[in-house]
Amino acid sequence: MKKVLVIGCGGVAGVAIQKCAQNADVFNEICIASRTVSKCDALKKKLEGKTKAKITTAQVDADKVDQLVALINEAKPDIVLNLALPYQDLTIMEACLKTKVDYVDTANYECEDTNDPEWRAIYEKRCKEKGFTAYFDYSWQWAYRERFEKAGITALLGTGFDPGVTSVFTAYAQKHYFDEIHTIDILDCNGGDHGYPFATNFNPEINLREVSANGSYWENGHWVETKPMEIHRTYNFEGVGEKDMYLLHHEEIESLAQNIPHVKRIRFFMTFGQSYLTHMKCLENVGMLGTEPVEFEGHEIVPIQFLRKLLPDPASLGPRTVGKTNIGCIYTGIKDGKERTLYIYNVCDHQECYKEVGSQAISYTTGVPAMIGTMMVLQGLWKRPGVFTVEEFDPDPYMDALNKWGLPWQVDEHPVLVP
Ligand code: NDP
Repeated sequence: MKKVLVIGCGGVAGVAIQKCAQNADVFNEICIASRTVSKCDALKKKLEGKTKAKITTAQVDADKVDQLVALINEAKPDIVLNLALPYQDLTIMEACLKTKVDYVDTANYECEDTNDPEWRAIYEKRCKEKGFTAYFDYSWQWAYRERFEKAGITALLGTGFDPGVTSVFTAYAQKHYFDEIHTIDILDCNGGDHGYPFATNFNPEINLREVSANGSYWENGHWVETKPMEIHRTYNFEGVGEKDMYLLHHEEIESLAQNIPHVKRIRFFMTFGQSYLTHMKCLENVGMLGTEPVEFEGHEIVPIQFLRKLLPDPASLGPRTVGKTNIGCIYTGIKDGKERTLYIYNVCDHQECYKEVGSQAISYTTGVPAMIGTMMVLQGLWKRPGVFTVEEFDPDPYMDALNKWGLPWQVDEHPVLVP
């Protein structure tokens, strides 16, 4: 009997848990634990009579290691799938270490209070040493490598779509198509329309922090940083059409730069419509993306958290969103002494996702790989003591599982390259 403890019960977790429930031969028991237990209970109710998996729920504040340890000791899971926010990564890893249980997540650690002087000192040193200013990076979680190795447990980091599937695509390209990969362009296109003037497709706070930050890319062994939205391209995406896309900093660039031996350049582009960008700039200009508390009529309010309350809940966009996503990677490099190019990508339809699990494609394309990565570790296929990102394992079983569980991928050997 194998049991997963899922922490968090938002948009991504909702999909991942339904996928675990569909895959009850692997996930015999599922414990759903989150800050707001009523959301866990509602999902449990939705799944009643539809799965062989035994489902339980619990309340937990994942910022508190002692609460997490007590929950893990009581629930006794074989693995913990962290689908709360990146702020909780370290406390959940800490609890997994104390209880010797495997750990999986979809996003690397980010500090919630970026004004904390202790965190800032480390952050500023890293900015200088590494040359990028994003608030998130892998150093915090890679620092756990030795302790996870000694404890004999696995931490699998970043098994969403990007990071996640895009890095598995890269390991697959390296294994089957290239002797040397020289360039990687990760293209994340959302051609969906939810009908609101402004909404984010996943947690607004995490999304807006990411998009309003400086961009950066990896070239010839170092980071090149750009102003937010400075580099702009258009690309014609299958299933979507021509879209504007912008270069962003993204976490998988950091791990791929270490793990793909001959790579010379890695870039990440995401598509945005003009309405999204105009709203974001305006919100930024009036201070609504601020992360520092401000006093308002006797209360302390963090602007970006207040904004989150006003914006539509990403989990509620499902019924309204139409159109497709197209996410994948374009590679150039060498095979048998000859130059070659390759594009591996997935096209996902928002309404198809909604019909299957009641959510839009952004939560779907993250929740399905979260289930698959967890399955890889649980089945022993990707189980190794230490802390790893997904490209460090054999991509083949994961690629098969993508086809089986709702994210079929395609290969184009003659793609249009991004200038
Ligand atoms: P949501 O905001 O929809 O869900 C977050 C969930 O975590 C909520 O249920 C929330 O509880 C819970 N939570 C937050 N803080 C705590 C806490 N202290 N203790 C316990 N539970 C807590 O986010 P998403 O589902 O959109 O995103 C989930 C994760 O997936 C994020 O880390 C995000 O960065 C990542 N992601 C990764 C992608 C990828 O491709 N790799 C793409 C998209 C997202 P409550 O209901 O009380 O608020």
